Amino acid sequence: MRGKLLRGLRYRQRLARRNNRLAQREDAQAQKADKDLKQKPKAKKFGKKSRGKQPGAKGMWRTTPLVPNITMAHQPGNCAACNAQLEIAASSKPYMGYYVLELEKQECGFEVICQLHHYYEATCGCGHQTKARPGQGAVSVVPGRGKDLQLQEYSLVGPMQAALHR
Ligand SMILES: [Zn+2]
Repeated sequence: MRGKLLRGLRYRQRLARRNNRLAQREDAQAQKADKDLKQKPKAKKFGKKSRGKQPGAKGMWRTTPLVPNITMAHQPGNCAACNAQLEIAASSKPYMGYYVLELEKQECGFEVICQLHHYYEATCGCGHQTKARPGQGAVSVVPGRGKDLQLQEYSLVGPMQAALHR
């Protein structure tokens, strides 16, 4: 019994030593590969430009603002407190806005329509300020997930998500 236990123990020690050696060897290989990568000068390509944005070039997407095809005004219709009809002054400015890229079906194919949504607020005679807000959809709750997911109009969404809003 004792002999069997000892043998088992020795076997385990051997296994541990071997695993250790393997791990060390892998470490050494990884370090070598890392060193090789750092030392190797970047291969220069002559006369061959890769497609797309070149390293160091200014990104177009981030510097060019979206140009809306349509601007949609969202105004609060009634006071949230007393339900009185609200009047929006012609001089009032939206308190927020966002862009939506909508995929619209055309006669042949699709077209991306850029919509700018503007949201207005209004103060009622009763003193309450009502804000028009983007629509919100279903909430997905998963136990253990830090944040619940909610469908909102207030984001740039793809065509699939946009279809879910309706
Ligand atoms: Zn009111």
